[in-house]
Amino acid sequence: MKSATDATFDLITGIRSGNRRMLAKAITLVESALPEHQAKAQEILDAVLPLSGNAVRLGISGVPGVGKSTFIESLGMMLIAEGKRVAVLAVDPSSSRSGGSILADKTRMEKLSVEPNAFIRPSPSGGTLGGVARKTRETLLICEAAGFDVVIVETVGVGQSEVAVASMVDFFLVLMLAGAGDEIQGIKKGILEMADAIAINKADGDNLEKADLARKDYQNALNLLMPNSAVWTPPVLTCSAIEMRGIDTIWETVLDHRARLMESGLLQQNRRKQAISWLWSLIEEGLKERFHRHPLVQKLLPDTVVEVESGRTTPSAAATRLLNLLDR
Ligand code: GDP
Repeated sequence: MKSATDATFDLITGIRSGNRRMLAKAITLVESALPEHQAKAQEILDAVLPLSGNAVRLGISGVPGVGKSTFIESLGMMLIAEGKRVAVLAVDPSSSRSGGSILADKTRMEKLSVEPNAFIRPSPSGGTLGGVARKTRETLLICEAAGFDVVIVETVGVGQSEVAVASMVDFFLVLMLAGAGDEIQGIKKGILEMADAIAINKADGDNLEKADLARKDYQNALNLLMPNSAVWTPPVLTCSAIEMRGIDTIWETVLDHRARLMESGLLQQNRRKQAISWLWSLIEEGLKERFHRHPLVQKLLPDTVVEVESGRTTPSAAATRLLNLLDR
Protein backbone atom coordinates (compact mmCIF):
# COMPACT_ATOMS: atom_id res chain seq x y z
CA MET A 1 0.00 0.00 0.00
CA LYS A 2 1.71 3.10 -1.30
CA SER A 3 2.61 5.90 1.14
CA ALA A 4 0.23 4.78 3.87
CA THR A 5 1.40 5.36 7.42
CA ASP A 6 0.19 3.54 10.52
CA ALA A 7 -2.30 6.32 11.14
CA THR A 8 -4.12 5.78 7.87
CA PHE A 9 -3.53 2.05 7.34
CA ASP A 10 -6.71 1.00 9.18
CA LEU A 11 -8.80 3.55 7.34
CA ILE A 12 -7.50 2.45 3.96
CA THR A 13 -8.03 -1.22 4.75
CA GLY A 14 -11.50 -0.36 6.06
CA ILE A 15 -12.44 1.55 2.92
CA ARG A 16 -11.21 -1.28 0.70
CA SER A 17 -13.39 -3.74 2.54
CA GLY A 18 -16.41 -1.41 2.37
CA ASN A 19 -16.50 -0.63 6.11
CA ARG A 20 -18.93 2.28 6.48
CA ARG A 21 -17.53 3.60 9.75
CA MET A 22 -14.04 3.80 8.27
CA LEU A 23 -15.47 5.37 5.15
CA ALA A 24 -17.23 8.05 7.20
CA LYS A 25 -14.05 8.67 9.19
CA ALA A 26 -11.99 9.09 6.04
CA ILE A 27 -14.53 11.53 4.61
CA THR A 28 -14.38 13.55 7.83
CA LEU A 29 -10.62 13.88 7.27
CA VAL A 30 -11.22 15.00 3.66
CA GLU A 31 -13.66 17.63 4.91
CA SER A 32 -11.46 18.89 7.72
CA ALA A 33 -9.54 22.13 7.36
CA LEU A 34 -6.79 21.07 9.79
CA PRO A 35 -3.46 20.59 8.00
CA GLU A 36 -2.72 17.26 9.74
CA HIS A 37 -6.13 15.92 8.71
CA GLN A 38 -5.54 17.13 5.19
CA ALA A 39 -2.22 15.31 5.07
CA LYS A 40 -3.88 12.07 6.19
CA ALA A 41 -6.71 12.58 3.70
CA GLN A 42 -4.14 12.97 0.94
CA GLU A 43 -2.43 9.73 1.98
CA ILE A 44 -5.75 7.92 1.90
CA LEU A 45 -6.64 9.34 -1.49
CA ASP A 46 -3.29 8.36 -2.96
CA ALA A 47 -3.74 4.83 -1.67
CA VAL A 48 -7.31 4.32 -2.83
CA LEU A 49 -7.13 6.13 -6.16
CA PRO A 50 -6.21 2.97 -8.13
CA LEU A 51 -9.41 1.36 -6.81
CA SER A 52 -11.65 4.22 -7.90
CA GLY A 53 -13.24 4.92 -11.26
CA ASN A 54 -15.71 2.06 -11.49
CA ALA A 55 -18.96 3.63 -10.34
CA VAL A 56 -21.67 5.25 -12.41
CA ARG A 57 -21.26 8.93 -11.49
CA LEU A 58 -24.64 10.60 -11.73
CA GLY A 59 -25.27 14.30 -11.09
CA ILE A 60 -28.78 15.47 -10.27
CA SER A 61 -29.87 19.07 -10.15
CA GLY A 62 -33.09 21.04 -9.89
CA VAL A 63 -34.60 23.93 -7.99
CA PRO A 64 -35.67 23.37 -4.37
CA GLY A 65 -39.03 21.61 -4.32
CA VAL A 66 -38.66 19.94 -7.74
CA GLY A 67 -38.44 16.57 -6.00
CA LYS A 68 -34.73 15.75 -5.93
CA SER A 69 -34.68 13.89 -2.65
CA THR A 70 -37.91 12.03 -3.48
CA PHE A 71 -36.39 11.10 -6.85
CA ILE A 72 -33.09 9.98 -5.34
CA GLU A 73 -34.90 7.91 -2.76
CA SER A 74 -36.99 6.19 -5.47
CA LEU A 75 -34.01 5.63 -7.76
CA GLY A 76 -31.81 4.54 -4.87
CA MET A 77 -34.36 2.01 -3.62
CA MET A 78 -34.78 0.64 -7.15
CA LEU A 79 -31.02 0.19 -7.53
CA ILE A 80 -30.67 -1.42 -4.12
CA ALA A 81 -33.43 -3.87 -5.05
CA GLU A 82 -31.22 -4.77 -8.04
CA GLY A 83 -28.41 -5.55 -5.61
CA LYS A 84 -26.42 -2.36 -6.13
CA ARG A 85 -24.70 -0.20 -3.54
CA VAL A 86 -25.55 3.49 -3.76
CA ALA A 87 -23.81 6.55 -2.32
CA VAL A 88 -25.51 9.95 -2.25
CA LEU A 89 -23.37 13.07 -1.90
CA ALA A 90 -24.24 16.73 -2.25
CA VAL A 91 -22.80 20.07 -3.25
CA ASP A 92 -24.74 22.75 -1.46
CA PRO A 93 -22.82 26.02 -1.12
CA SER A 94 -25.70 27.52 0.87
CA SER A 95 -24.80 25.17 3.71
CA SER A 96 -21.77 27.35 4.48
CA ARG A 97 -24.00 30.33 5.05
CA SER A 98 -27.04 28.82 6.70
CA GLY A 99 -25.00 26.40 8.79
CA GLY A 100 -27.27 23.54 7.76
CA SER A 101 -27.44 21.60 4.54
CA ILE A 102 -30.67 21.65 2.56
CA LEU A 103 -29.52 18.77 0.38
CA ALA A 104 -29.06 15.04 0.89
CA ASP A 105 -30.30 15.47 4.39
CA LYS A 106 -30.90 12.12 6.01
CA THR A 107 -34.36 13.03 7.20
CA ARG A 108 -35.35 13.71 3.61
CA MET A 109 -34.60 10.16 2.45
CA GLU A 110 -36.06 8.09 5.20
CA LYS A 111 -36.14 4.72 3.47
CA LEU A 112 -32.81 5.04 1.73
CA SER A 113 -30.98 6.27 4.80
CA VAL A 114 -31.65 3.07 6.74
CA GLU A 115 -30.57 0.76 3.91
CA PRO A 116 -27.26 -0.96 4.65
CA ASN A 117 -26.35 -0.67 0.96
CA ALA A 118 -26.92 3.07 0.86
CA PHE A 119 -24.56 5.73 2.12
CA ILE A 120 -25.86 9.30 2.37
CA ARG A 121 -23.52 12.14 3.13
CA PRO A 122 -24.75 15.74 3.39
CA SER A 123 -22.87 18.53 1.66
CA PRO A 124 -19.61 19.55 3.32
CA SER A 125 -20.14 22.95 4.83
CA GLY A 126 -17.94 25.96 5.06
CA GLY A 127 -15.62 27.56 2.57
CA THR A 128 -15.99 28.52 -1.04
CA LEU A 129 -17.94 26.61 -3.66
CA GLY A 130 -14.57 25.47 -5.01
CA GLY A 131 -13.66 24.07 -1.59
CA VAL A 132 -17.01 22.33 -1.12
CA ALA A 133 -16.80 20.84 -4.62
CA ARG A 134 -13.23 19.61 -4.07
CA LYS A 135 -14.25 17.78 -0.90
CA THR A 136 -17.23 16.21 -2.65
CA ARG A 137 -15.10 15.10 -5.57
CA GLU A 138 -12.58 13.46 -3.26
CA THR A 139 -15.39 11.85 -1.29
CA LEU A 140 -16.75 10.48 -4.57
CA LEU A 141 -13.40 8.80 -5.28
CA ILE A 142 -13.30 7.28 -1.80
CA CYS A 143 -16.86 5.95 -2.18
CA GLU A 144 -15.87 4.35 -5.47
CA ALA A 145 -12.90 2.72 -3.82
CA ALA A 146 -15.27 1.43 -1.13
CA GLY A 147 -17.12 -0.42 -3.86
CA PHE A 148 -20.23 1.68 -4.43
CA ASP A 149 -21.72 0.92 -7.85
CA VAL A 150 -23.52 4.23 -8.22
CA VAL A 151 -22.52 7.59 -6.78
CA ILE A 152 -25.22 10.25 -7.01
CA VAL A 153 -24.15 13.86 -6.52
CA GLU A 154 -27.04 16.18 -5.81
CA THR A 155 -26.99 19.94 -6.16
CA VAL A 156 -29.37 22.88 -6.10
CA GLY A 157 -30.44 24.23 -9.46
CA VAL A 158 -29.24 27.72 -8.80
CA GLY A 159 -25.94 29.08 -10.01
CA GLN A 160 -22.41 27.82 -10.21
CA SER A 161 -22.75 24.67 -8.14
CA GLU A 162 -24.26 22.95 -11.17
CA VAL A 163 -21.14 23.59 -13.20
CA ALA A 164 -19.04 22.14 -10.40
CA VAL A 165 -21.16 18.99 -10.20
CA ALA A 166 -21.43 18.54 -13.98
CA SER A 167 -17.63 18.53 -14.06
CA MET A 168 -17.33 15.60 -11.64
CA VAL A 169 -19.97 13.22 -13.03
CA ASP A 170 -20.49 11.15 -16.18
CA PHE A 171 -24.17 11.94 -16.54
CA PHE A 172 -25.90 15.17 -15.54
CA LEU A 173 -29.66 14.93 -15.03
CA VAL A 174 -31.72 18.08 -14.63
CA LEU A 175 -35.09 17.76 -12.96
CA MET A 176 -37.74 20.29 -13.98
CA LEU A 177 -41.38 21.00 -13.33
CA ALA A 178 -44.13 21.67 -15.81
CA GLY A 179 -44.85 25.36 -15.37
CA ALA A 180 -47.49 27.72 -16.62
CA GLY A 181 -46.60 27.38 -20.29
CA ASP A 182 -43.91 29.99 -20.69
CA GLU A 183 -41.22 28.08 -18.83
CA ILE A 184 -38.97 27.77 -21.84
CA GLN A 185 -38.11 31.47 -21.65
CA GLY A 186 -37.11 31.00 -18.07
CA ILE A 187 -34.64 28.14 -18.48
CA LYS A 188 -31.05 29.09 -18.52
CA LYS A 189 -29.37 28.08 -21.74
CA GLY A 190 -26.30 27.06 -19.81
CA ILE A 191 -28.20 24.42 -17.89
CA LEU A 192 -29.61 22.92 -21.07
CA GLU A 193 -26.13 22.72 -22.50
CA MET A 194 -24.87 20.83 -19.45
CA ALA A 195 -27.76 18.38 -19.27
CA ASP A 196 -27.38 14.82 -20.56
CA ALA A 197 -31.10 14.42 -19.96
CA ILE A 198 -33.97 16.47 -18.59
CA ALA A 199 -36.76 14.85 -16.60
CA ILE A 200 -40.03 16.63 -15.94
CA ASN A 201 -40.96 15.42 -12.46
CA LYS A 202 -44.40 15.27 -10.82
CA ALA A 203 -45.93 13.83 -13.99
CA ASP A 204 -48.87 12.44 -12.06
CA GLY A 205 -52.51 13.23 -11.24
CA ASP A 206 -53.79 16.46 -12.76
CA ASN A 207 -50.30 17.34 -13.84
CA LEU A 208 -49.85 14.53 -16.39
CA GLU A 209 -50.97 16.43 -19.46
CA LYS A 210 -49.08 19.58 -18.54
CA ALA A 211 -45.94 17.51 -17.98
CA ASP A 212 -46.21 15.99 -21.43
CA LEU A 213 -46.63 19.42 -23.04
CA ALA A 214 -43.61 20.67 -21.11
CA ARG A 215 -41.65 17.64 -22.29
CA LYS A 216 -42.32 18.56 -25.93
CA ASP A 217 -41.42 22.22 -25.33
CA TYR A 218 -38.14 21.30 -23.67
CA GLN A 219 -37.32 18.78 -26.37
CA ASN A 220 -37.80 21.48 -29.02
CA ALA A 221 -35.62 23.87 -27.05
CA LEU A 222 -32.93 21.20 -26.72
CA ASN A 223 -33.04 20.37 -30.41
CA LEU A 224 -32.18 23.99 -31.18
CA LEU A 225 -28.93 23.59 -29.28
CA MET A 226 -25.99 21.55 -30.43
CA PRO A 227 -25.92 18.04 -29.00
CA ASN A 228 -23.30 17.47 -26.32
CA SER A 229 -21.46 15.01 -28.49
CA ALA A 230 -21.82 13.12 -31.72
CA VAL A 231 -22.93 9.99 -29.89
CA TRP A 232 -25.59 11.46 -27.61
CA THR A 233 -28.69 13.63 -28.00
CA PRO A 234 -30.08 14.59 -24.59
CA PRO A 235 -33.64 13.30 -24.26
CA VAL A 236 -36.47 14.91 -22.31
CA LEU A 237 -38.43 12.43 -20.19
CA THR A 238 -41.23 12.59 -17.66
CA CYS A 239 -41.43 10.87 -14.30
CA SER A 240 -43.22 10.73 -11.01
CA ALA A 241 -40.72 10.34 -8.21
CA ILE A 242 -43.48 9.88 -5.67
CA GLU A 243 -45.28 7.14 -7.64
CA MET A 244 -41.98 5.66 -8.80
CA ARG A 245 -42.99 5.90 -12.45
CA GLY A 246 -40.50 6.68 -15.21
CA ILE A 247 -37.56 6.16 -12.89
CA ASP A 248 -36.60 2.89 -14.59
CA THR A 249 -36.59 4.57 -18.03
CA ILE A 250 -34.34 7.32 -16.70
CA TRP A 251 -31.92 4.74 -15.30
CA GLU A 252 -31.93 2.87 -18.63
CA THR A 253 -31.11 6.19 -20.29
CA VAL A 254 -28.14 6.64 -17.97
CA LEU A 255 -26.91 3.13 -18.81
CA ASP A 256 -27.47 3.62 -22.53
CA HIS A 257 -25.47 6.86 -22.42
CA ARG A 258 -22.72 5.09 -20.53
CA ALA A 259 -22.56 2.21 -23.00
CA ARG A 260 -22.31 4.61 -25.96
CA LEU A 261 -19.65 6.73 -24.32
CA MET A 262 -17.63 3.69 -23.36
CA GLU A 263 -17.82 2.26 -26.84
CA SER A 264 -16.61 5.49 -28.40
CA GLY A 265 -13.90 6.02 -25.78
CA LEU A 266 -15.57 9.28 -24.71
CA LEU A 267 -16.17 8.21 -21.13
CA GLN A 268 -12.48 7.98 -20.35
CA GLN A 269 -11.77 11.03 -22.47
CA ASN A 270 -14.36 13.06 -20.53
CA ARG A 271 -12.94 11.89 -17.23
CA ARG A 272 -9.42 12.83 -18.33
CA LYS A 273 -10.63 16.28 -19.36
CA GLN A 274 -12.43 16.65 -16.04
CA ALA A 275 -9.23 15.70 -14.18
CA ILE A 276 -7.22 18.32 -16.08
CA SER A 277 -9.78 21.05 -15.53
CA TRP A 278 -9.88 20.00 -11.89
CA LEU A 279 -6.11 20.37 -11.71
CA TRP A 280 -6.34 23.90 -13.06
CA SER A 281 -9.10 24.96 -10.74
CA LEU A 282 -7.10 23.62 -7.78
CA ILE A 283 -4.04 25.54 -8.97
CA GLU A 284 -6.06 28.71 -9.42
CA GLU A 285 -7.67 28.35 -6.03
CA GLY A 286 -4.29 27.60 -4.42
CA LEU A 287 -2.71 30.64 -6.03
CA LYS A 288 -5.53 32.86 -4.86
CA GLU A 289 -5.21 31.52 -1.34
CA ARG A 290 -1.45 32.01 -1.36
CA PHE A 291 -1.93 35.55 -2.63
CA HIS A 292 -4.33 36.48 0.14
CA ARG A 293 -2.17 34.84 2.80
CA HIS A 294 1.03 36.63 1.76
CA PRO A 295 1.99 39.11 4.54
CA LEU A 296 3.01 41.88 2.13
CA VAL A 297 -0.23 41.51 0.17
CA GLN A 298 -2.21 41.69 3.39
CA LYS A 299 -0.32 44.82 4.35
CA LEU A 300 -0.59 46.67 1.04
CA LEU A 301 -3.91 45.46 -0.37
CA PRO A 302 -6.28 47.83 1.51
CA ASP A 303 -4.37 50.99 0.47
CA THR A 304 -4.02 49.73 -3.09
CA VAL A 305 -7.77 49.20 -3.33
CA VAL A 306 -8.31 52.80 -2.19
CA GLU A 307 -5.79 54.03 -4.78
CA VAL A 308 -7.63 52.21 -7.57
CA GLU A 309 -11.01 53.41 -6.31
CA SER A 310 -9.90 57.01 -6.24
CA GLY A 311 -8.33 56.79 -9.68
CA ARG A 312 -4.79 57.43 -8.45
CA THR A 313 -3.57 54.24 -10.07
CA THR A 314 -4.91 51.92 -12.76
CA PRO A 315 -6.21 48.43 -11.95
CA SER A 316 -3.55 46.87 -14.17
CA ALA A 317 -0.66 48.74 -12.55
CA ALA A 318 -2.02 47.89 -9.09
CA ALA A 319 -2.49 44.22 -10.00
CA THR A 320 1.05 43.96 -11.35
CA ARG A 321 2.45 45.57 -8.23
CA LEU A 322 0.52 43.25 -5.90
CA LEU A 323 1.32 40.11 -7.90
CA ASN A 324 5.01 41.00 -7.90
CA LEU A 325 4.91 40.89 -4.10
CA LEU A 326 4.57 37.10 -4.35
CA ASP A 327 8.14 36.86 -5.61
CA ARG A 328 9.48 38.68 -2.56
P1 GDP B 1 -36.26 18.80 -3.35
O1 GDP B 1 -36.29 20.07 -2.59
O2 GDP B 1 -35.94 19.04 -4.79
O3 GDP B 1 -35.39 17.74 -2.75
O4 GDP B 1 -37.76 18.23 -3.36
P2 GDP B 1 -38.45 17.11 -2.42
O5 GDP B 1 -38.07 15.75 -2.87
O6 GDP B 1 -38.25 17.47 -1.00
O7 GDP B 1 -39.98 17.30 -2.84
C1 GDP B 1 -40.69 18.52 -2.63
C2 GDP B 1 -42.17 18.22 -2.52
O8 GDP B 1 -42.65 17.70 -3.75
C3 GDP B 1 -42.50 17.18 -1.46
O9 GDP B 1 -43.68 17.56 -0.82
C4 GDP B 1 -42.68 15.91 -2.25
O10 GDP B 1 -43.58 15.01 -1.64
C5 GDP B 1 -43.27 16.44 -3.57
N1 GDP B 1 -42.94 15.56 -4.70
C6 GDP B 1 -41.74 15.06 -5.02
N2 GDP B 1 -41.81 14.29 -6.11
C7 GDP B 1 -43.11 14.30 -6.51
C8 GDP B 1 -43.83 13.68 -7.59
O11 GDP B 1 -43.30 12.95 -8.41
N3 GDP B 1 -45.15 13.96 -7.67
C9 GDP B 1 -45.80 14.77 -6.78
N4 GDP B 1 -47.09 14.97 -6.96
N5 GDP B 1 -45.15 15.35 -5.74
C10 GDP B 1 -43.83 15.12 -5.61
